[in-house]
Parts: sequence; C-alpha cells; structure tokens
Amino acid sequence: LSYKGFTTTFQFYEKAVKLATVKYDVAIIGGGSAGISAACWSAELGLNSVLVESNVELGGQLNYVFNPINNYLGVETANGREMRDIFVSQMQNWQFDILTNSAVAAVDFEAKTALLYDGKILHFKALVIAMGVRRRKLNIAGEAEFIGKGIIESGKRDAKTLIGKTVCVIGGGDAALENALILSGFAEKVFLIHRRETFRGRKEFLNQILLNTKINILRNTNLLEIIGEDKVHAVKLKNEAEFILPTDGVIFRLGVEPNTELFRDKIMLDEFGYIKIDSNCETNVSNIFAVGDVANRLSPTISSAVGMGTTAAKVIWQRLNL
Ligand SMILES: Cc1cc2nc3c(=O)[nH]c(=O)nc-3n(C[C@H](O)[C@H](O)[C@H](O)COP(=O)(O)OP(=O)(O)OC[C@H]3O[C@@H](n4cnc5c(N)ncnc54)[C@H](O)[C@@H]3O)c2cc1C
Repeated sequence: LSYKGFTTTFQFYEKAVKLATVKYDVAIIGGGSAGISAACWSAELGLNSVLVESNVELGGQLNYVFNPINNYLGVETANGREMRDIFVSQMQNWQFDILTNSAVAAVDFEAKTALLYDGKILHFKALVIAMGVRRRKLNIAGEAEFIGKGIIESGKRDAKTLIGKTVCVIGGGDAALENALILSGFAEKVFLIHRRETFRGRKEFLNQILLNTKINILRNTNLLEIIGEDKVHAVKLKNEAEFILPTDGVIFRLGVEPNTELFRDKIMLDEFGYIKIDSNCETNVSNIFAVGDVANRLSPTISSAVGMGTTAAKVIWQRLNL
C-alpha cells in the first residue's frame, strides 16, 4: 500500500495496516446532504456502504444554516438543523456503517483504500467524495482568537447581541450584502467592508443598502487585523492608508473554497479547485465519484447535493452489477 501525500510516522502507518480489515462496496467521505443521500441510496440498492464524517455530527453546512429553508421541495424547515434532523431520522430506514469524528487522511485510488486519521483503512470498490466546502479565511491576527467574542457566525442568529452597537461585515457577495441588511435592523451602525470597488452580490440587495442610512460602505478596503482584549474592540483597515475603526462585532462573508486538498494532483480539478465530474458525477478516475458542493461551484444547494448523491449511488450500483 502506498499513500502518496500522507505524512506520518512509520509506527502509525504500521498500526493502520494492522487494522486493514474493513471492505465495502462504497465508501462515502463527508456526511452532509450529498453524502447522506449517497449513503441512503447505496443502502436502498443493496450496496454495502460506509459514511465517514470528520465532525462529531452529520449534516455538514446544514448545521450552520440559521435562515428558514423553503426552497427544498417536499419539506420546509425553520433552519438547517431541523432539515438535518429530518435527514438523519430518515436514515433509520436503511442500514449502513457510519463513522463520525473520523476524518479521511489519504486515499489510494490504485489500492482502492481510504486511510483514516485514527488508523483505520477502509477498502472500497467505489468511492464517493462528498466533502463540501468551507468558509474562506483571511488568516489575519485576531481572526481565530475572537470567534464568539465579537466575531459572529450568523447575522440572522446573532443580530440581537448587537442591538445599538457597531458591526463590520467583511465581503462583497450576496451573503455579505444580505448580512449587512439583516444587521442594520438591530445594530446602530454597520460598516460593509469590501476589498474591491464593485460588489458581486445581487443588485437588489445593493440598491437596498445604498438607501439604508445605517450602512456605510468602505470600498477598496482591506481588513488587516482584529483588535481587542477579552473581546473585539476595533479593526485595523487599509485603503489609501492604514486606520483603526472601533467596532463591537465582525462577521466574515468571504465566500467558500472546496475541501479538495487531498485530491490535488490525483483527480482533475477546475481552476477554482472544485472537482470536475461528468453527468454521472464520476471524476476522471474510474469508480471515483464526487457529489454536492465539492463538485458544484455554480449551484451549491441542498437539492443539487441530494440529487448528485442519488446519481452516484445509482451509477455505482449499475457498474457493480454488470
Ligand atoms: C448560511 C447558509 C445558508 C444556506 N441556505 C440554503 C438554502 O436556503 N437552500 C439550499 O438549497 N441551500 C442552502 N445552503 C447551501 C447548502 O447548505 C449546501 O449546498 C449543502 O448543504 C451542501 O451539502 P454537501 O453535502 O455537498 O456539503 P457539506 O454540507 O459542506 O458537507 C461536507 C461534509 O464533509 C465533511 N468532510 C470534509 N472533509 C472531510 C474528511 N477529510 N473526512 C471526512 N469528512 C470530511 C465535512 O465535515 C462536512 O460535514 C446554505 C448554506 C449556508 C452556509
């Protein structure tokens, strides 16, 4: 067995090899909407499958959706967690192995094995990559330190903590514009800070923002640092010169990036790092599939993720039953 790109000690590798006993028709990496769908459909079709999720709980991004979801046909929920609970409850209709709190560290396409950080090796006939996307970060001082101490997760959920206060929204897309509007209903002042001149978010959001006296737009402005002690007090910004802006809160909406580092140089990615697939959701490597946001830059939605999970499972079933 060779794990290109997997750096570990020889001892750890030995331990991993000893645990190499589990064999599956399908291994699915990622327990969000796409992975859950692929797992349910694989089981529905009689395939022996395993769903591997790095977090302690399933659901992926659904766990961070605080707005009502009314655009997924068949069910409307108050937030993503409620949708997740329905998915997880429906999973009880089928049997497949679930490994949570278990991240995949490396995949060997030739040997058809996936190595987990805890040392387990999963053998598969087909692999479904459903690893989704993560929020883009700036990696600046204070960004990690002040999470929950002034850096808020969601305008929708956390707006009430900023009543009468000042908040900075960082970003220029739909999510940044929407959060600026939501927060303006509660905060005294909202600064919308964008590193470019023009916004890529929806025109109707921008038009509302331009009429909103509580929202100040700072264009061509970069965030350099978040300043505080026990909580956020200010941000250091730079446009023509550096300056300090006092604030009580910060929310980042800088877009997302796909979780595809494991597969660089192994399968074809597009220029943005998303996995390239065909209409069967198959990558350029035979029997390696990719579903959901990780392979869908242009329409990252629950319905697309669920549909792609279904497609992969159906195609795999046909392949394995030829
Ligand atoms: C605030 C917000 C609001 C949204 N609102 C809507 C909406 O109204 N309607 C709609 O349709 N969509 C909405 N979406 C988008 C929707 O949530 C996503 O398109 C969908 O959840 C994507 O599912 P996924 O399974 O592809 O990826 P994800 O949900 O990102 O799941 C990927 C999973 O893979 C796991 N993973 C990653 N790497 C590894 C590894 N190495 N080993 C094991 N596991 C790994 C991650 O922990 C994660 O759980 C919203 C998203 C957000 C953030």
